[in-house]
Amino acid sequence: METKRLSDCASDLLEAAELLKNGQVVGIPTETVYGLAADARNPQAVRQIFAAKGRPADNPLIVHLADIRQLGEIAAEVPPLAEKLAERFWPGPLTMILPKQAQIPEITSGGLDTVGVRMPSHPVARALILLSGAPIAAPSANISGYPSPTTAEHVIRDMQGKIAAVVDGGACSVGVESTVIALESADTVRILRPGFVTAEMLGTVVPHVTLDPAILHQLQEGQAVRSPGMKYQHYSPHAHVILVEGTWNAFADLVQQQAETGICALVFDGEGKDLSVPCLTYGSDDQEQAQQIFSKLREFDDMNAQKVYVRAPKPEGIGLAVYNRLIRAAGFEVIQV
Ligand code: AMP
Ligand code: MG
Repeated sequence: METKRLSDCASDLLEAAELLKNGQVVGIPTETVYGLAADARNPQAVRQIFAAKGRPADNPLIVHLADIRQLGEIAAEVPPLAEKLAERFWPGPLTMILPKQAQIPEITSGGLDTVGVRMPSHPVARALILLSGAPIAAPSANISGYPSPTTAEHVIRDMQGKIAAVVDGGACSVGVESTVIALESADTVRILRPGFVTAEMLGTVVPHVTLDPAILHQLQEGQAVRSPGMKYQHYSPHAHVILVEGTWNAFADLVQQQAETGICALVFDGEGKDLSVPCLTYGSDDQEQAQQIFSKLREFDDMNAQKVYVRAPKPEGIGLAVYNRLIRAAGFEVIQV
């Protein structure tokens, strides 16, 4: 199959929506990362998403809607707290886990009786949901385990020949995947995956916000998991990634002591000019770091890097989402200097 490159002009959006209606898979831009989209109600279409990504069958997909009236078709129950959160954070990068409506097939929910739902704010994603008339299942449009795509080019690299088309909507503004939350009671939510919507922001609507321990810590063998995605290797380029916590001077000393070939570094803006190894930067604040992290990790593979030492961001605010992706990209290998 030749993967068609479409733009965000009206006729191309109609063509992409037609593909979705016909049970095809299309790469689409969202404000978080590019998604691999298909009609969430169509098991054959959703099966192609899992096949194209090489995604484990028990890792559920997030279902995207564009109109709050679609929520009843996806979730069997919408507690008042979910309505409040939707009002405050939708459209936007917040996914809520809710009881699943019967028309959402098990393949979409990874066999669970719950479903992750969100309303994206990206105009192309919204247009495609409305034009296709379907709730859209869309995981990140990367090969499973590899860094998520934040440009159409990244999607083409991973999905060429595997999906019908990619719609180019430019680079993603957020850059990391949505915040995923479970509603634990009428006044408590648990963050399962951190994102652009932070604990502090959720705290303006919900009295109690807890962080799942799996956000920062490796699961032990056989440990129960609240979100199946937490079990799997994630976000890793081919290069070996090591996260380094400490001062700039200690980081520079550590990197400069390495004698192997293919050593590289990922540092903050303004750093690295005197470093003796190839170096990329990834922004100067948490928003820029979120925007850039995946494309920079991919760039190291283009440079043929073997080992990448990464300056760790502060695990606070949106930085927690960046730290969470990096610690997984590093297979939990963290050095304190
Ligand atoms: P991705 O599709 O790559 O953005 O990943 C979606 C994330 O949401 C994965 O970590 C999933 O495990 C999580 N997720 C989706 N649906 C559910 C659900 N019903 N229950 C728990 N976690 C979910
Ligand atoms: Mg993903």
